[in-house]
Amino acid sequence: MECIFCKIASGEIPAHKIYENDRVLVFLDIQPGCQGHSLVIPKAHARDLLALAEADLAAVMAAARRVAPALVAVTGAEGLNLHQSNGEAAGQVVPHFHLHLLPRRRGDELRSPWQSKAADSKALSALAAELAAALKT
Ligand code: 5GP
Ligand code: ZN
Repeated sequence: MECIFCKIASGEIPAHKIYENDRVLVFLDIQPGCQGHSLVIPKAHARDLLALAEADLAAVMAAARRVAPALVAVTGAEGLNLHQSNGEAAGQVVPHFHLHLLPRRRGDELRSPWQSKAADSKALSALAAELAAALKT
């Protein structure tokens, strides 16, 4: 397996690990966007959210909840963002599901990845109806 995060999960290559259990591993990002930038990964390979088993997703979120207070306390952060990308078009670089934990401070350099603009409410209604219908099948 050529997956870099599988190699980190198996211990084949090193990482600055901060928490693990039988399903997940949390380690520091090697190129952090801020102090304490960490990644939560499932130990079992899954390309992205669409390929991830629900039990592994639950374990990832539970680990984020477990790690968050220590991350905030130790870095002295005032807030925390969770960020997660699926597919190259969405900016995913490593094709093994990972959840970014980004401790935040007022006035820091991190920026939201999107620019918001007002939506047409008819278009929102139509899209919500289409999505709700897709979820019923
Ligand atoms: P993505 O852009 O796929 O959401 O995020 C991939 C993240 O993995 C990046 O923030 C990058 O710095 C981090 N990363 C890539 N390779 C390694 C590595 O070998 N070790 C660690 N700790 N982080 C890595
Ligand atoms: Zn992998």
